[in-house]
Amino acid sequence: MTTKSPITEAKRLIVKIGSSLLVDEVSGEIRRDWMDSLCDDVARCRARGQEVVLVSSGAVAVGRRHLNLTQPLKLEEKQAAAATGQIRLAHAYQEALARHGITVAQVLLTLFDSEDRRRYLNARETLDTLLRLGAVPVINENDTVATNEIRFGDNDRLAARVAQMISADALVLFSDIDGLYTADPRRDPNATFLSEVREITPEIEAMAGDPGTGYGSGGMVTKLVAAKICLSAGCRMAICKGEPLMPLSALENGAPCTWFLPGAEPRTARKQWIYGSMKPVGTLTVDPGAARALAKGGSLLPAGVVMVDGEFERGDCVAVAGGGRILGRGMVAYSAEDARKIMGRKSAEIEALLGFRGRDELIHRDDLVMEG
Ligand code: GLU
Repeated sequence: MTTKSPITEAKRLIVKIGSSLLVDEVSGEIRRDWMDSLCDDVARCRARGQEVVLVSSGAVAVGRRHLNLTQPLKLEEKQAAAATGQIRLAHAYQEALARHGITVAQVLLTLFDSEDRRRYLNARETLDTLLRLGAVPVINENDTVATNEIRFGDNDRLAARVAQMISADALVLFSDIDGLYTADPRRDPNATFLSEVREITPEIEAMAGDPGTGYGSGGMVTKLVAAKICLSAGCRMAICKGEPLMPLSALENGAPCTWFLPGAEPRTARKQWIYGSMKPVGTLTVDPGAARALAKGGSLLPAGVVMVDGEFERGDCVAVAGGGRILGRGMVAYSAEDARKIMGRKSAEIEALLGFRGRDELIHRDDLVMEG
């Protein structure tokens, strides 16, 4: 069981933690024993080479008490509560992960950051860099600046968008419900548990109940929205009860949960997405050496490029050509203007040529689809 779990298989794992797990309802304090145990799990994943991102709720729940705010909160009170709570939350994570010598990094996002192309790429780059440098990003919505129009409003969706953004292999939503049932298990004795879902059909959606009244405090509806995003991004997603200490270990050891499983492997699904929904707006022509490296599954480095055609921005799709034919296509890491400056040059020269140090690759192998 332990060896085959999608948790252990994930190279890049996102764990979303709901407020009800992290914050004691009565005292409004962070449940440090639980947080410590979660961070012990995170350290274990890191030690076996996995990258872990935490998406944590709890800012409002923790901060409220410090401003003597009682429920129900108005939007601006929630924002104020989040501002006082987030700093405490981040500090607690910092301490809990420091016990394992792990550096934590706070990243606050709004809906805009996942929809506006430039912000999306910037957030993606920052998260990639943090992970490469061995930090554990702790993400929350930037509640303080997020007014209704630019709010995710729930961290289930935020976590799924982050999973899509950074091509995560698995997302676990820890909450107070162990998974998806065919009906609300609190009302319907015939409700049966589903341990695996491969497609979000209208029947599955109907099982979640109505928004707001759906079972589970975070609402099953938002979890299914998150599952849809994950499935389309090729990311496996689990809904699981997070209450036990060391919840990731519990999940690995067979705790009940619902897995949402995309048809293809995460990386394959991502490539399908690149191939199916992006139209090339330029062409990079490569030399025979680079063409051979690409055929073997390598990334495209600036050194192998002999010509840059078209106008494109970082994140656009470009064709890769060589030997008079199209070899494949991929998502390019530099604009056409920058690509022209660095083509034929070593990756180590990028900084001197452009004045900033971006990725070593013009197209990373994960972003590249070769013609069949
Ligand atoms: N961003 C909110 C907070 O940290 C939580 C949103 C959610 O739980 O979905 O308090």
